[in-house]
Amino acid sequence: MTLKKYWQKRKFKETPEPRGKVLKTRKYRFVVQEHRATHHHFDFRMEMEGVLKSWAVPKGVPEKIGIKRLAVQTEDHPISYASFEGVIPRGCYGAGTVKIYDRGKYELIEKAKDRIIFTLKGKKIKGIYNLIKFKGRKNQWLLFKTR
Ligand code: MN
Repeated sequence: MTLKKYWQKRKFKETPEPRGKVLKTRKYRFVVQEHRATHHHFDFRMEMEGVLKSWAVPKGVPEKIGIKRLAVQTEDHPISYASFEGVIPRGCYGAGTVKIYDRGKYELIEKAKDRIIFTLKGKKIKGIYNLIKFKGRKNQWLLFKTR
């Protein structure tokens, strides 16, 4: 696991985002951050293998069963990013405001290369979720809630 891409995209003299590092903790946290950038979206991140695996979800994490949302996988973020809120200055990567929408713990049910199933235990977002990778597409996944 590496944060190389995360570090390459950012200038830490200019952005308040954490530099972070790969950690060994295994606390199974997740966070959903509302990101008002060029395009308003939500970022879903889950702690896995010492980093936060991350997806940009344009329409947000579905809170009802039956709604499928596109989730575009983005670069791994440091675990310390889970508590980040603030303003990323103009000219910086991801410029705009970041606010925590929800956070909590999750339990992993199943994990394969193209399929992650887990239970989210947030304040607003709860239940069993599936992330299923589109075949033949690079970073595109579907995120939906199931029974
Ligand atoms: Mn974002």
